[in-house]
Amino acid sequence: MHVFDNIQCGAFHLPSCNDCEGGITGFIWRCTLCFGLSLCTSCYMSDLHGTSHPFIRYETHLYNG
Ligand SMILES: [Zn+2]
Ligand SMILES: [Zn+2]
Repeated sequence: MHVFDNIQCGAFHLPSCNDCEGGITGFIWRCTLCFGLSLCTSCYMSDLHGTSHPFIRYETHLYNG
């Protein structure tokens, strides 16, 4: 029988940017309409995703959980 008691404290992987596919540092911008879509700040600021979709900003150091 397996006990997965390490799941809660395991390493958390920060999302990578859906556009440039780079690791996100600083702020994570998540689209509220497209599930699972996260952008880095530079891609968000370049409006590649369209400005009609509202985004929520997260700080990476607050995102771990
Ligand atoms: Zn990006
Ligand atoms: Zn979207």
